[in-house]
Amino acid sequence: MSARVYHISDVTRWLRCPRMFRLDHDLGKAPYQQFLRMDEKITDLAMEKLGIQSCFIGQRGDDPEKAMQALESEEWLVKARFEYHGLRVKVPFLHRTEHGWDLYFLLVGLLPKAPDPTFYTATLWVLEGCGIPVGRISIIHLNGDYVRQGALDTDALFVIGDHFYNERSHPAGEVETVLRDQMRDYDAVLKDMDRTLQTPLAEPVRSGKCTGRVKCRFFDACFGEDREPDASIVHLTGSRYRYDMRDEGRLYLRDADPARIEGTAQQYAEIMADRMGGLYADKAALRSWLSDLEYPLTFIDFEWERFAVPPYEGMRPYDVLLFEYAMDTVQKDGSREHKVFLDVHDDREALVRSLLADIPEQGSIIAYNAVGAEMIRIGELAEQLPEYAGDLLALNERMKDLQQPFENGMIYDIRMRGQWSLKTIMSLMDDPGYRELDIRHGMDAVYQWRYLDRDAEDVDRERIIEELKAYCGMDSYAMTVVCRWLYEAAGLTM
Ligand code: SF4
Repeated sequence: MSARVYHISDVTRWLRCPRMFRLDHDLGKAPYQQFLRMDEKITDLAMEKLGIQSCFIGQRGDDPEKAMQALESEEWLVKARFEYHGLRVKVPFLHRTEHGWDLYFLLVGLLPKAPDPTFYTATLWVLEGCGIPVGRISIIHLNGDYVRQGALDTDALFVIGDHFYNERSHPAGEVETVLRDQMRDYDAVLKDMDRTLQTPLAEPVRSGKCTGRVKCRFFDACFGEDREPDASIVHLTGSRYRYDMRDEGRLYLRDADPARIEGTAQQYAEIMADRMGGLYADKAALRSWLSDLEYPLTFIDFEWERFAVPPYEGMRPYDVLLFEYAMDTVQKDGSREHKVFLDVHDDREALVRSLLADIPEQGSIIAYNAVGAEMIRIGELAEQLPEYAGDLLALNERMKDLQQPFENGMIYDIRMRGQWSLKTIMSLMDDPGYRELDIRHGMDAVYQWRYLDRDAEDVDRERIIEELKAYCGMDSYAMTVVCRWLYEAAGLTM
């Protein structure tokens, strides 16, 4: 039994990296940033789906004894807090049946995937440790096929399932079977967690967990990558052996061992850039890519919000709502025209009409990461507003992705340090760019827009609108600067 009380989030952090768990404990956890918009109380919606009329509802900080007592009299327990051997869990739903207590997990996602079912196994471990006979185990999750028409239909919004799914969205095991198979010895885990807090901070050990899906916030503190020179071999993109090579004394990109690089076009460009004094440009490839562009060149950028529960007609769970676009149109004679559309709430039709009116009928439409963002957003609008589908999809036919020359190793400047976001590249240009803006990141723009969409009263709406227009406008303008740089690197003029 642990000497302390932990939550599942502590366990998942410790399992990812004991040093991260320890640093979080000593320095305080990072504030939570909500990337996904969720205005509704998802538990209340799920209660409607489950038909819960009367229940015990747990509260933050409850003595676990309260939940144990509620088991005596209630048919349903919602968000009840249980504790066993120092691990405290919040259980979404428990339902009394003749066989014991059916357990419902609640997932604010489309399909339950289980590469790491720690949350589920730990909850089950605590319940069974408390002597609660757990019957059927289900997961209530959002239904990706539900399309909102009028008022929210909570019955159609959720699916109650008893399977996990793989990356291809195929069933990959019954929930109960997977949980039993992957059950951990949490007593041992909790004791190890105690030890991590009682002993000196461990030295960092570099692993895939440091940069996995989300880069660890202590990465720079652990490994000091930011102090590496621009040409450091640690910036060799996608290299499995870059740290091994550095430890052997191959400090720079130019020193990379040909036998231990993956040989991607990006890596070639990065190594060549270091050998050529800092900049590599494949002029022939750039000229070929640029020769596909047709004037006028329209650079376009979208901003959007993603909602867990569809707030408006025609939207599905996890759909996005486009709220802003900015475009810069550059004519052959060099003249430039800048346009921005911004509104709040559901203005998809107005946005689409304005977009179709603003984009010139001829020429290339250029976006940074067009394939992964703008083209998808246009496809979604075409589906939601079928009367405009033909005109919208015709835009995608003219779309060019400005990220491609960077992704495909046509150009690299060692000051990019293995990154090729629009902001990184813009920071190399002789232009103040984003530096003078109040909003500098896409998620900052979304957070600001939320004040408008929620009709917040204690904010300066005019100022937010101006800042949002400046930020999105900077993205489309930055593309003109970066594209001009590509032309110059190819020995051409835009
Ligand atoms: S960077 Fe890696 S070693 Fe350092 S705390 Fe994070 S996960 Fe652990």
